[in-house]
Amino acid sequence: MDRKNARRNILKSGLAAASVMAVNHLSVADQHGQHENNSNEDILLEKAFAEDRYVLPPLPYDYDALEPHYQGQALEIHHKRHHQAYVTGLNAVLEKMDNARRDGNYDPSHVRAYSSDLAFNGSGHELHSIFWHSMTAGGVEMPDSFARQVRRDFGSVERFKAHFSQANKAIVGGWGVLAYEPIGQRLIILQVMEHQDNTFTGAVPLLVCDMWEHAFYLQYKNDRSQWVDNFMEIANWQYAAKRYDAIRR
Ligand code: MN
Repeated sequence: MDRKNARRNILKSGLAAASVMAVNHLSVADQHGQHENNSNEDILLEKAFAEDRYVLPPLPYDYDALEPHYQGQALEIHHKRHHQAYVTGLNAVLEKMDNARRDGNYDPSHVRAYSSDLAFNGSGHELHSIFWHSMTAGGVEMPDSFARQVRRDFGSVERFKAHFSQANKAIVGGWGVLAYEPIGQRLIILQVMEHQDNTFTGAVPLLVCDMWEHAFYLQYKNDRSQWVDNFMEIANWQYAAKRYDAIRR
């Protein structure tokens, strides 16, 4: 695998992030430079988006398929109502943002509310889409290649499972996440608390501006606005465009 392809796969893996655990064929598929998309697997969550809108993806199994571990009616309500509400909210807030941009309405309280809504519904949609694939009737053995990675990053499969289940149990409201961290190219366990806290899990940043005071205070004192204006003058959109192309290939 050449350097460019390796980089592309890292970025794609970053997008797939927490779906790593659910997708048993991922490592095999990556070796062949393509993703198997047989059965009802949706490795890159392509079924969660259609015709320019986020959509409720179909479950990869029947509603009663996980019984008794997950009761059919509970699963159906979770999917059809709760997950659907995130999808509806996500599309709605994107439309509100679109309208606000058209009207030039950047009232800070609106921007804050919309950003919070976007993160809440966006992360909710993504995490649920992954969640359905995180379960399979009767469970399944961890594939050897993935187990090797787990042993490398957590010491042993048993230690990983203990850590992951304890992390899950210690969450009051949020998600336990096994994620691929592309900088260190390793697996990590996260407790994602209150996913409305302005993140869209798994999104790959294209360009960023440091708004911590340490980034601008020595030069701009408390004039954040001037810092941003000046940053915009020097922003590297070519870099952003290249990353955009890379993750879309
Ligand atoms: Mn849920």
